[in-house]
Amino acid sequence: MPSSNARKATGERTESEQFENVACPFCGMICDDLTVERTDKGLKVLKNACGKSIAGFERKLPPSRPQVGGKDVELAKAIKEAAKLIGKAELPLYGGLATDVEGMRAVMALAERSGGIVDHALSEAQYRNFKILQTTGWTTSTLTETRNRADLIIIAGSDVHKLHPRFFEKIVSPSDSMFDVTAPKRTVVFIGKGLDKSAAKGSRIGEVITLACKPEQAGEVVGALRARLSGFRLKPLEIDGVALADIDALAELCKQAKYGVVVWAPPSLDFSHAELAVEQFTGLVKDLNQTTRFAGLALGGAEGSITAGAVSTWQSGYPLRVSYASGAPDYDPYRYAIGRMLREGEGDLLVWIASISPDLSPPATQIPTIVLGTPGLVLAKAPAVLIPVGTPGVDHAGRLVRVDNVVSLPLKDLGRAELPPAADVLAAIEAAL
Ligand code: SF4
Repeated sequence: MPSSNARKATGERTESEQFENVACPFCGMICDDLTVERTDKGLKVLKNACGKSIAGFERKLPPSRPQVGGKDVELAKAIKEAAKLIGKAELPLYGGLATDVEGMRAVMALAERSGGIVDHALSEAQYRNFKILQTTGWTTSTLTETRNRADLIIIAGSDVHKLHPRFFEKIVSPSDSMFDVTAPKRTVVFIGKGLDKSAAKGSRIGEVITLACKPEQAGEVVGALRARLSGFRLKPLEIDGVALADIDALAELCKQAKYGVVVWAPPSLDFSHAELAVEQFTGLVKDLNQTTRFAGLALGGAEGSITAGAVSTWQSGYPLRVSYASGAPDYDPYRYAIGRMLREGEGDLLVWIASISPDLSPPATQIPTIVLGTPGLVLAKAPAVLIPVGTPGVDHAGRLVRVDNVVSLPLKDLGRAELPPAADVLAAIEAAL
């Protein structure tokens, strides 16, 4: 370990260092078993990589400086200008929110101080879950429980491998399980055609079954499965190309399972009223728990969205779409959805935080925008204020809440570049108000 972090004038650290057990911030799984090396060429993932983690850790940062009105300024001036804009805004909107626990706590404090509204860029997908959790409740598993105990895994209408390239390797077909328990081979069922099944292989996988409906019909197929499990006759004898005989065969597998898990990823369920599909998935879990053990597992959670929802809930009592305009937290999932507010001309300042990937661009808007972003963030035009910030787990230490909501994982400072954490910038803006 080097005793100090020597840095070039560009801010990059020059000494080589190898990091073990690195937690990856680039999808909601936050795998914490990576080995990453830093050399003068940048970061390289040496062990347990996937395409997303390589793209994230090994991305070369373009030069980036704080700016006001498109012109380079010192950080202190950009902070002062941001505080001025927030201070005079009637209704600032705090969006994006791709940051870590500390960054999100700082967002909540600043929103409360300035009477603003808080919503994550990907909350539309999260609300497919929240609506069902809030209205009917659910029974869910964790990544670890699923890895150790599941004997039947049903992937419902979701392209899990695309969103989480190591889900099958780590959870569905791991080489070992906790407590030396070697579970029997699992049956994996895909409900939806065109889902990437290429990773459903390995020593732990038994049969792989596909019910080839359109992925957006997965909720309807699961509804038919629930009806058959309850003993109802059904006509027609197929649902979107899935024969009733295949649904009956899955019903038998569900009844025989000792620990079945229904897996879905809300970002994949991108169609109207997708919460009704989620309701069917969680309803199947409830039905089957009368006679055996079943659980749901919701995935997704990129760009720190699980962290944003968790911190918002701890701090305000509500899972995002919270307004502090009255001085107290007020929750309304329709009125305080920032995407809708911007389309309908509400709010007079957008504060956009995107510290993880360069793809989380702020939406087009006429109102002034303050951006706290990772260098390389795609911007259609120069914002009123731009402050480059570090990526948690790459440029500075931090914590992120994992997709199953049961742990927050520590992230290491890998020393890619000397950029301030969003939390520090937000705290400095608040102090300058
Ligand atoms: S699956 Fe997700 S968390 Fe795991 S290494 Fe890949 S991008 Fe990172």
